[in-house]
Amino acid sequence: MEILIGRDTETNKLKLTSGTKSILHGTGGVPTSVANEHCRLEINDQSLRIKNLNINAYTFVNGQAVESKAISRNDNIALGTDRYPFDWKAIDTFVPPVSDIRPLKSVWEHFEDENIRLQIAERKFNTLRSATGIITMAAIALSIATGGRSPWYIVLYGAAIIISLLFFVKAYRDSSQMPQKRQDLTKQFQRDYVCPHCGHFLGNQAYDILAQNDCCPYCKAKFIH
Ligand SMILES: [Zn+2]
Repeated sequence: MEILIGRDTETNKLKLTSGTKSILHGTGGVPTSVANEHCRLEINDQSLRIKNLNINAYTFVNGQAVESKAISRNDNIALGTDRYPFDWKAIDTFVPPVSDIRPLKSVWEHFEDENIRLQIAERKFNTLRSATGIITMAAIALSIATGGRSPWYIVLYGAAIIISLLFFVKAYRDSSQMPQKRQDLTKQFQRDYVCPHCGHFLGNQAYDILAQNDCCPYCKAKFIH
């Protein structure tokens, strides 16, 4: 697909033409240093190339005047000696934007796995903690059964106290580490689980549910999934 870009001489708006379709973009005020047929954008699948068409006009890519150059949507394109900034949104009318969300599947799975791992770690710890209660109860039962004559209940009490202390130390350390780990995980997820086209966070929804949408709710780019 090829899109001819230039200035509409009547309205001074940016004019884009492809085949028989032609649109005027923006509110006008395009300087006269932008030619009527200024440059051409060639679009092949995912690759883009811009070509300057007028020897008296200039097309700038990231500040450099070019005759023909492969570009991406992240490049700054400016037209004419007044360096009129080209608005990429003008292209979306001809080529609806797409957002390839397939890499987000693994982002979601990693987030879910890590969440479950943190939950299991917490539950395991709580289960182990209850072991101190069992040992204490065993010590009480033993002292009752032997009428306090067996020294083993003292050993059991001692063990229960030591284990309780160890768990207390671990619980104290975890009390600061666990929320931090959770927060780091959430922050990382919010950075990564974003629309590849507009960069907007797509929310705490599973990939399968996200993929049921046709397009990004923020930029309307069509999802590829
Ligand atoms: Zn988007």
